[in-house]
Amino acid sequence: MTVAVRFAPSPTGRLHVGNIRPAVLNYLFARSHGGSFMLRLDDTDRERSTAAFAEGIEHDLTWLGFVWDRFARQSDRTARYGEVAGQLKAAGRLYACYESADDLDRKRKRQLARGLPPIYDRTGLRLTPAEHAQMAAEGRTPHWRFKLANSETAGSLVPAPTMVSWNDLIRGDQMVDVGSLSDPVLIRENGTALYTFTSVVDDIDFAITHVIRGEDHVTNSGVQVQLFEALGAELPAFAHHSLLIGADGQALSKRLDSLSIEGFREAGLEPMAVLSHAALIGTSDAIEPHGTLESLAAGFSLSKISTAPARFDLDELKGFNARLLHKLPYEAVAGKLEAAGIGGGEAFWNAARANISVFGDVIRWWSVVAGTITPVIEDAAFASTAAGLLPASPWTEATWGEWTNAIKAATGAKGRALFHPLRLALTGEDSGPDMKSLLPMIGEARVRARLCGQAA
Ligand code: GLU
Repeated sequence: MTVAVRFAPSPTGRLHVGNIRPAVLNYLFARSHGGSFMLRLDDTDRERSTAAFAEGIEHDLTWLGFVWDRFARQSDRTARYGEVAGQLKAAGRLYACYESADDLDRKRKRQLARGLPPIYDRTGLRLTPAEHAQMAAEGRTPHWRFKLANSETAGSLVPAPTMVSWNDLIRGDQMVDVGSLSDPVLIRENGTALYTFTSVVDDIDFAITHVIRGEDHVTNSGVQVQLFEALGAELPAFAHHSLLIGADGQALSKRLDSLSIEGFREAGLEPMAVLSHAALIGTSDAIEPHGTLESLAAGFSLSKISTAPARFDLDELKGFNARLLHKLPYEAVAGKLEAAGIGGGEAFWNAARANISVFGDVIRWWSVVAGTITPVIEDAAFASTAAGLLPASPWTEATWGEWTNAIKAATGAKGRALFHPLRLALTGEDSGPDMKSLLPMIGEARVRARLCGQAA
């Protein structure tokens, strides 16, 4: 079977760490099966969806390294939704209702007061042609509900349970009692279609084989299974992943806006750190940084995803980012180093990478090598003795050892008392890259000036 999946964000906000998880799981599933990945913008909510958010989502996904094989925007497919709604109406599965939000609220309160479940009472279904004509004459436009196929029990106001079941590729056997749900509204009064409906029409039209999304959609899936069936379509496979919790164990849903992909980019995090983290939290795999999406896809399997909530910890992601950088080979960053005006080639990157948490930190180490720093001289006499013992150029990685041995022999200083003042004088920093690599890069002129306490 050819695998076809989709990631379907609503452009009512930017991407955040919560919705990057379904994005990456869908992406890796497609890539690991040689299938296709579609980006679908669920923008039927005209008031809340904006072109700027849509652009932002595409920009964020591109930054993360996603390439989509197909693209669709639900707002472009209005005519198609109208056509399919017509089929459901003709089949008696989509019916007109005229209740206002207040009417529905009153009904719910009455039902609750009588100890009944607050489910829509299907008044719309029982309207006579004369009553419909009356509504039209009054200029009232209906909204449209999907008639769920549940077992109505004649004479009883409490619907009998009607189970919809499927074998979820993450959660195993799932059952949703659609008997306990109201017939969902698929078309609003203003004629626009709602997600429950548009998503199914698109999944059918684009031949989506696997629907991978958060477990907040499990109940939707129960309803949508009935929609697929009502439209005579084959069901896709479903996989519902758990939702994120924060480091404190609390749901992240309210804090997601502060954890945007844009924010991660601005904080200097690497796309592959964000992706590896999002793909591996909540799985049985070790959370290890992967350098490429291909490498992540190679080990991917839905069966490794746990049903327990996945824990997201920003500090862990930052640490993870640092670990990714520490093993990143020069070829992976050469272009970025050049773009940032950083020279020094592979030798500099190899010396600096273990001392950075985000890529931008290399700029500081580059200024130690090639810019001007303020040296810290704790003991001018010691610095002057050290300067007098500097080996003749050209310097290599062996120079640091020769030089410090000579200083040790002359002053008796050893260990930290020997090395630390030299590091402070030559870099202005307490700690940092290996001095044996830095010394030849800093070069004789700067080293001599810094040992004299001059900014150089
Ligand atoms: N627009 C929906 C959401 O963002 C898509 C859910 C789905 O994958 O069907 O939750």
